[in-house]
Amino acid sequence: MTEKGTIFSQNVKQIAFDGEHRKRMTARYEAFMLMAKDCAKYYSNISLEKSRAFNIRNKAFKYYDKYLVDFETNVINNGGIVRWACDAEEAKYMIYNILNDEKSKNIVKTKSILAEEIGLMPFLEMKKVDVTETDTGDFICYQYNERPSDPNHSAADKTKEDVAEIYSEKFGTSDKLSAKQLMTVTRKVLNDKYSAADTAITGADFIVAETGDIIISEDEGNMLKSTANTKVHIVLVGIDKLIPNLDDINVLLPLSSLYEPTNIRAKSYYTILNKPAKNQKLYVVLVDNNRSTMFSKDPQRIIMTCIECGGCHRVCPVFNTIGGHVYDNAFPGPVGMIQKIADGYEEAAHLATACSSCRQCEEYCPMNIKISDLILRNRIEIAREDANLLGEKRVINFIMKRVDNRKDMDKTKDFLNRLEMKQLIKKTWGVHKEIPTFAEKSFSELYTTLTTE
Ligand code: SF4
Repeated sequence: MTEKGTIFSQNVKQIAFDGEHRKRMTARYEAFMLMAKDCAKYYSNISLEKSRAFNIRNKAFKYYDKYLVDFETNVINNGGIVRWACDAEEAKYMIYNILNDEKSKNIVKTKSILAEEIGLMPFLEMKKVDVTETDTGDFICYQYNERPSDPNHSAADKTKEDVAEIYSEKFGTSDKLSAKQLMTVTRKVLNDKYSAADTAITGADFIVAETGDIIISEDEGNMLKSTANTKVHIVLVGIDKLIPNLDDINVLLPLSSLYEPTNIRAKSYYTILNKPAKNQKLYVVLVDNNRSTMFSKDPQRIIMTCIECGGCHRVCPVFNTIGGHVYDNAFPGPVGMIQKIADGYEEAAHLATACSSCRQCEEYCPMNIKISDLILRNRIEIAREDANLLGEKRVINFIMKRVDNRKDMDKTKDFLNRLEMKQLIKKTWGVHKEIPTFAEKSFSELYTTLTTE
């Protein structure tokens, strides 16, 4: 087992049997199911809309090389600056260098899954660059020095009491504050940061090849506040966010907001950024970070059509048992598991096991992605590449050698039934799984006895 696999397995064992955690996750799951049950009623034909969305994203992938160049040309023509980053290291240093060149002192940042993926915040902290996260959920997580456990609902694993306690530690407030009072404290801290900010770092939902537009959706207005007065705006975005035309957002944005808990199933604010604001410099940092590798993988590249609605992990029984932190991935749950294959088989091996193939995720996916099939495909490739769990392979090989021959199997069953052997198998298969007990007499032994009597 890889080192990451061992850590993953230990963390899973710990969290899966934490009653309090289970209670919170179950409550979240039930609330989501209640809200999601009639999402489709907002569409006269949701299947058609899902197919349209899937086709838009696939068309973009087909002509990616052209569309990316179109996007870059249009951003430059609109007055922006484009930078290309091959991997996480390059992206982080690129942003660090921009901040240095622009003499940025007061930096605010909005939610970005990509920033989590490349580890931007810990990197800037290491470089002694002070950045304030302005998304409320992410802001709370950073008070714990934690990556958000759920990209769509960052601090969902924290209770009001947890937040009051950490705020009391960090800001000297009472540890008995109500939810409303906690929001007031958050706003106060962030408003001071907005007024002093000279640079904003944001993500983007989509980027448009035809026009160079950058589409950003949000719930809190913190992106608008962050960029209102800053002299520099850096947009950090993955190359997978490219769409061909501006009209495509009519289909994609409502679907990506399908599971928003508001009555209108939409985010509160949508921004189409066409050019830098007055007296503002606009940088677009386009990041690959193994996305090209993912595009070259068939059929797993389909996961790149994901529009990050969050539906799949919120219905996933594994995610709802172990929570988001255990995955140690910017995007926990099924999406991150599939994408991990682009980082190498060893990196992906332990995550590929975290799926029960229930296929519930597929029912809720607005992009019609056959998520379970892609996970299965990862498993097949990992097994072929020998990155699979070594201990498990040894046990399977031992059993398979005996299964090949009936007499050998009959001889081995007593050995397999022995307690110490079961304990050994459980080490690999999990202490909470029951290993079946072989019958005292196999069918062939019974048959032989009956026919000879
Ligand atoms: S894979 Fe589908 S359900 Fe999951 S986040 Fe992406 S679009 Fe949503």
